[in-house]
Amino acid sequence: MFGSFPIARVFGTTVRIDLSWVLLVIGTAALWPGDPLAAVINLLLLFTLVTLHELGHTLAARYFKIEVLDITLWFLGGMARMREIPENPKVEAVVALAGPAVNFLLAALALPFLLASGIANMSDLAPNATATLAGLLANFILINLFMGASNLLPAFPMDGGRVFRALCGLFTDWLNATRIAAGVGKLFAAGLIVLGFVSRQWSIAAVGLFVWLAGSRELWAVRMRRMQQQMREQTFGGLGERAATFTPVETEEPPQRGAEDDPSGARRPSDNPLAQGRGLDDEAVRRLERFRGSIRKPRDPQD
Ligand SMILES: [Zn+2]
Repeated sequence: MFGSFPIARVFGTTVRIDLSWVLLVIGTAALWPGDPLAAVINLLLLFTLVTLHELGHTLAARYFKIEVLDITLWFLGGMARMREIPENPKVEAVVALAGPAVNFLLAALALPFLLASGIANMSDLAPNATATLAGLLANFILINLFMGASNLLPAFPMDGGRVFRALCGLFTDWLNATRIAAGVGKLFAAGLIVLGFVSRQWSIAAVGLFVWLAGSRELWAVRMRRMQQQMREQTFGGLGERAATFTPVETEEPPQRGAEDDPSGARRPSDNPLAQGRGLDDEAVRRLERFRGSIRKPRDPQD
């Protein structure tokens, strides 16, 4: 992404426009064979639907108390950036399905209007027949169905791939589930890249490349998290998770350790109030804080 700027705030979430999107609009207007204004209006409609799709993800994430940083529109679509989604199949699946669900809902809402508008003949339903109300409605429904369905392809990290990972996560550990989903996603990505080149539809190839890179990145992120967990376990041993994430609490007197515990006196209990009552010495507290600093750094958010 080339840098972005905010354009709106919807349900408390900032919607941002990436510069690549601006270039897409300008490029489409300049290169479009027909009326450039019509092309831009269609593009704006398309990205309104993309925004609504991302808002679906956003509201589902909020329901699970996941912080959504912003929604960014870029030339390949939209992205709701979130703080880490918990490694939980149910949460992952619900957040992923909420986007396509918005598209299917919009299509379903438009259907009665299409039927009421009186479809004179099937040519009214051709995707390009936007001159009539029925044509517009049909177009709206088709775009939503396409957007919902294409996002459900199991091409991790797209929505369908996330649902697939959630399903795998029911049977195996999260890292393994991500590995399987990313592997299947790369098959799809390779297929899209080949298809894009063969048909000279470069946007399809670009989507394939994006899926490949984003999938690798997510797999890498889960691997890193695993490594950090293992390091934490090795570093803190029996103290485990609790020590690595401890919060200041009032405790009673620290346990008195006699000289017989440590004749050298080098490992005396720490004076640090955080460590009192936990049997930690100064060195352990220093190590803990050093380590905590690094593991608490927020990970790059994701779609
Ligand atoms: Zn989505």
